[in-house]
Amino acid sequence: MRAHVEINLKAIAANIERAKNSTTANVLAVVKADAYGHGLVPVAKAALNAGASWLGVALVEEAHALRDAGITAPVISWLTPISEDFDAAIKANIDLAVPSLAHLVVIEEAGRRTGIKPRVHIEIDTGMTRGGLLDEWADFLKVIGGADVHVVGAWTHFARADEPLEAFTDSQIERFENALGELRGVGINPEIIHLSNSAASLTKVGAHKDLVRLGIAMYGLSPDVTHMGAGESLNLQPAMTLKAKLHLVKSVPAGSAVGYGGTAVTGTATKIGIVAMGYSDGIPRNTSSAAGVSFKGQRAPILGRVSMDQFVVDLGITSEAVTGDEVTVFGENGYSVDEWAAAAGTINYEIVTRIASRVPRIYG
Ligand SMILES: *Cc1c(COP(=O)(O)O)cnc(C)c1O
Repeated sequence: MRAHVEINLKAIAANIERAKNSTTANVLAVVKADAYGHGLVPVAKAALNAGASWLGVALVEEAHALRDAGITAPVISWLTPISEDFDAAIKANIDLAVPSLAHLVVIEEAGRRTGIKPRVHIEIDTGMTRGGLLDEWADFLKVIGGADVHVVGAWTHFARADEPLEAFTDSQIERFENALGELRGVGINPEIIHLSNSAASLTKVGAHKDLVRLGIAMYGLSPDVTHMGAGESLNLQPAMTLKAKLHLVKSVPAGSAVGYGGTAVTGTATKIGIVAMGYSDGIPRNTSSAAGVSFKGQRAPILGRVSMDQFVVDLGITSEAVTGDEVTVFGENGYSVDEWAAAAGTINYEIVTRIASRVPRIYG
């Protein structure tokens, strides 16, 4: 195997316990996007075993995959075009977000066709300006009281909770409370109020309400290294380690231009390693030498551009690495996901979610 991802399910369990210890709310484990690249079903099962009581996904297909795996815990799917097969979703006991009047109409119709009352969570746009009811709110209030749905929850999503000192989150909470009051005014009393993502789960107790939606923190990573510090400082344990084989190790003279465009030139004679992974595997092409791999704890920075299936690292003239050895790209005893993210000008979320499905996941 030229590369693989190791997933530490004990770290995921520890991160859930850490979240549970700092809240009275229940925990919804966010497992969208193949559990942020960690593997949908194994992570969902580990999260439920560790005390999460809900699962959250973006796509209805992801929710079906959980049901097909025999998982019976409540699941919310919150990104459903109105052309979705809501009949199948309702039959599979999948909770649905309602972000618009059009959604309410098609979900009600599906409920009538299936003879099962749809379980819905009213999504309110309180300032994220992405999903959720905003301009239709007054009209929604007129119809929701008589709608043929079971309103299980009401929820919103924070735009800036990863900046703990930012007052915008408080303004979102206030707008949410007002909307909730208006819902109650028309006789709708959702049982489960949920607002918090990882950042708010870690910093904003007042926003926890009944359920926190734990995503990145469950995977042991910080929602925002700049404003909240790295995962370790938040007592989180990273769950993903990426390892790859050195396809080749060879010595090159000083002045060697490495890779497409010859963008890196060796300053001295050195040993280079060709790592058998590339941008098609989710290694960002624009990664700078601020990232690299480690061999037995020794760091080897990237040289030049990342290719489709491979990239080159500078092992150093004294390295003992030989062709066929294994290196750690990121994770345990290596560069951190955050270092890779910084080197690529992106965030840790993007690094872990983009590791391609052709890289096998191994669970421990
Ligand atoms: C992705 C997502 C989350 C989790 O966000 P994190 O920052 O990873 O904790 C929570 N709620 C919704 C609606 C999401 O889409």
